[in-house]
Amino acid sequence: MKRISFLLIPLVLVASCHRTDSRNPYNLPIANTMEIYLAQVAQDPRTELVDLEEIIPGIALHIAYATEDNFTGVPIYSSPKAFLCRPVAEALVAAQDSLSKVGLGFKILDAYRPYAGTLYFYQVYPDTTFVANPRSGSIHNRGAAVDLTLICLETGNELEMPTPFDSFSDTASHAFTDLPEHVLQNRALLRGIMEAYGFHIYEPEWWHYNFTDARSYPLRDVSFEELMNH
Ligand SMILES: [Zn+2]
Repeated sequence: MKRISFLLIPLVLVASCHRTDSRNPYNLPIANTMEIYLAQVAQDPRTELVDLEEIIPGIALHIAYATEDNFTGVPIYSSPKAFLCRPVAEALVAAQDSLSKVGLGFKILDAYRPYAGTLYFYQVYPDTTFVANPRSGSIHNRGAAVDLTLICLETGNELEMPTPFDSFSDTASHAFTDLPEHVLQNRALLRGIMEAYGFHIYEPEWWHYNFTDARSYPLRDVSFEELMNH
């Protein structure tokens, strides 16, 4: 019974169109309606959230937060989608294009995350090394951070990385070097391509990259469904 009640809470938080002040107890300026979102996009087209599957046809996605297989144990998103602000998505297009020339591609693990998800993560795991503090919000809430790994395009297999996604451990850090040589090379390859296209590492997590001007994008709390139905 406990599991069922846990399941309902995040889905209501993320998927509901109903907005209340309880969604943002920290007085952060967050775009939480499509009206606000669309006004922001009209004023600054960079802030449009772009569907990665539309801008990179065939992009591999594994959105763990749309399944039970994530650190919370429940689905946080009601559909496995990945959105990023337009310049961030376009940088990823260029990076993927470059990677494909050597037979590699990206697998997207998470991208834009509605703020309600960040609030819920912090309730489940209040350690701000691995989970954003809801007082400031996550770069994911701005559509300017992406979690990703590398795959072989021919087989679809992931290249071996230091840990699984969302392994909240020291081994996930870029500073951790007690790893097999090929794993170090794979991590360095991902870092090299991302840095070449304007992304920056987040040292504790090998899978997380922030775009260069990440904090210039607004915090959002519009659902995937609202974005898809727009
Ligand atoms: Zn991340």
